[in-house]
Amino acid sequence: MSLDIIFLGTSSAIPTTSRWLPSIAIIRRGKVFLMDCGEGTQIRMLRMGISPLKVDTIMITHSHGDHFFGLLGLLQTMNILSRRDPLQIVASSKIIEFVETGLELTESIMGFELNFYETVEGFKLRRNDVTIEAFKVEHTDDSFGYIIREDDVWGEFIPEKALSLGVPMGPLWKKLQRGEEIVLEDGRIVTPSMVTKGIKRGLKIVYTGDTRPSENTIRAARGADILIHDSTFTSDRLERAMETLHSTAREAALIARAANVKLLILTHISARYTSPVSLLRDSVEVFKPVVVACDLLRVNVRRVDKNSILWRLDLP
Ligand SMILES: [Zn+2]
Ligand SMILES: [Zn+2]
Repeated sequence: MSLDIIFLGTSSAIPTTSRWLPSIAIIRRGKVFLMDCGEGTQIRMLRMGISPLKVDTIMITHSHGDHFFGLLGLLQTMNILSRRDPLQIVASSKIIEFVETGLELTESIMGFELNFYETVEGFKLRRNDVTIEAFKVEHTDDSFGYIIREDDVWGEFIPEKALSLGVPMGPLWKKLQRGEEIVLEDGRIVTPSMVTKGIKRGLKIVYTGDTRPSENTIRAARGADILIHDSTFTSDRLERAMETLHSTAREAALIARAANVKLLILTHISARYTSPVSLLRDSVEVFKPVVVACDLLRVNVRRVDKNSILWRLDLP
């Protein structure tokens, strides 16, 4: 119930010296889930000590080049490093075709299995005890946001309670600890909830990619622990945000408030903003807490109890 979110690139459309192109790594139990892979992502990973061999799944939000032109380079590095574990890539059919064609034209023979999954509404992928889900957002025809959701787990096992219910120490305890129901010799049923300190809810992280504010995002982000939202502009450039199908910081905050999330992180920042202050001001009037992401920011998140999280920011 603890993970790190590392912002590898937080710019929009074009890179600046301080903000590179979009990419976010979620690191959990040694495995990496990469959301978007803008040009330069693998260099940012190198800088943050994230091994390309540890990447389990890459999710791309849409077919604008700033979000996936780093993919081919990263795949080549994985190959040179003799990766053997299969890699999952979740993306629209256009991006899958782009990657397959790129590998074919460069006669790249991959030494590991590449599993492509086409993003469609309602898409779900299980990776051990994590579920990845996609939801449609309002940007291009093939734009999707992603939900990363950890499984809930049973809280601490209480041996005294098990003994008082007549459950003998041994294999039956193990079953209850694994979350299974058991039947005692006298026919009584004992469930995990009777002998544990309740359920520990898994973390839910939601990333929109590029989008206008959308009802679908509110639905997807409802009750999320962290919402990472497009925040390309401030309110004084609302018209520009509407034209380019992006969001302002204030609009992202309205979505966070409507979805009742615990923490809002703003990213995909236009190169015109050299300081985060105006974006922060624009959003905190509507919703708190909010963080304006910067490149190489690490956010450690852990569940403390059923309804709260503890988060720590490590700035570069
Ligand atoms: Zn973009
Ligand atoms: Zn875009």
